[in-house]
Amino acid sequence: MKPLSIYIHIPFCSQKCLYCDFLSAPAEEAVIKKYMEALLAELDRESPYYRDYQVRTVFIGGGTPSCVEEEAVGRVLSRLKKRFAFDQSAETEITIEINPGTVSKEKLRNYRNAGINRLSIGLQSADKAELKVLGRIHSWDDFLQTYEEARRTGFRNINIDLMSALPGQTRASYAATLSKVMALKPEHISAYSLIVEEGTPFYDRYGPGTEGEALLPSEEEEREMYQLTETLLRQEGYERYEISNYSKAGFACRHNMVYWQRGDYAGFGLGAASMAADTRWSNVKDLGCYLSGMEGRLEPIKEAVQVLSLTEKMEEFMFLGLRLMQGVSREQFRKAFHQDIDAVYGDVLTRLEQQKLIINKNSIALTPYGIDISNYVMRQFLI
Ligand code: SF4
Repeated sequence: MKPLSIYIHIPFCSQKCLYCDFLSAPAEEAVIKKYMEALLAELDRESPYYRDYQVRTVFIGGGTPSCVEEEAVGRVLSRLKKRFAFDQSAETEITIEINPGTVSKEKLRNYRNAGINRLSIGLQSADKAELKVLGRIHSWDDFLQTYEEARRTGFRNINIDLMSALPGQTRASYAATLSKVMALKPEHISAYSLIVEEGTPFYDRYGPGTEGEALLPSEEEEREMYQLTETLLRQEGYERYEISNYSKAGFACRHNMVYWQRGDYAGFGLGAASMAADTRWSNVKDLGCYLSGMEGRLEPIKEAVQVLSLTEKMEEFMFLGLRLMQGVSREQFRKAFHQDIDAVYGDVLTRLEQQKLIINKNSIALTPYGIDISNYVMRQFLI
């Protein structure tokens, strides 16, 4: 049986954060209810295609899945277990994303009873003013309460999401956030830089040519914050295993590793992406289409089906694999593509090595300088 990871998308939030361009929005109870039913129908309809697979990880993301009643989340997990074969040889990693202030003690207990064993908490910042700028619905105290309750409920694998390069953020305020979070000793920390996306209120306030643009940290400051994350977290025993992800030993996110290593995964729900047998596809992004599609009134709910060419597979192999600090191994490349990596990327590898952007040995990995300008490095692998 082949290994499979499953992603479930729950696209609802209490309120839209000002920087967010994810597929998420507030919704009425009746819509949420209908959506959760549609998810069950999708699992029923799609599961026969995965008869040769065994589930290793499940990730319930959003949106804010914790906005939805836990009974509905429990029903999705029960249906998954009924319709899909789960790998019995190891505990399945089952993660749910939660936001502070959206879970009660009882909800957390019910998550555990439903088999969820990993929480990913969206904190973003411990600074009151920064949380306000972001349009987050919670305070640091809300977060702390949620975190402590999660520990009391028995969760032993918790991720905290943080963001740097926020408007008005300084090196000192970011360091203070890191210190407060590290003091709690979560098993995993994700720390991404803010990207001001077009179409968000942030773009109007801080995008190119706006007055607010000056409030964003400079590229140099942004790099410093990124380096600060690595320095401070390393001192506390966190290993950087991916450009933006850090964990205590043994707590790397198994689900996300599948994405970076190009494993097979199936996404269910609005806009959810899948990849299997070197084909990528995603579900429609329009809620009305998705719901009527699952009610059978509209044909397929899938769109953007892309069968990857050999070139695309090689490119992906490189720029996803290089996100990992372990890099990509020459041996794995040969196994995957039946040719030597130098035959395809020899010139690129030599040049990047000369520029001190990669280490070019049995494994090829980014240097600290390569991490700083990783977008440039990744682009070199487009054939
Ligand atoms: S909680 Fe997350 S998904 Fe929801 S609006 Fe905020 S950033 Fe977007």
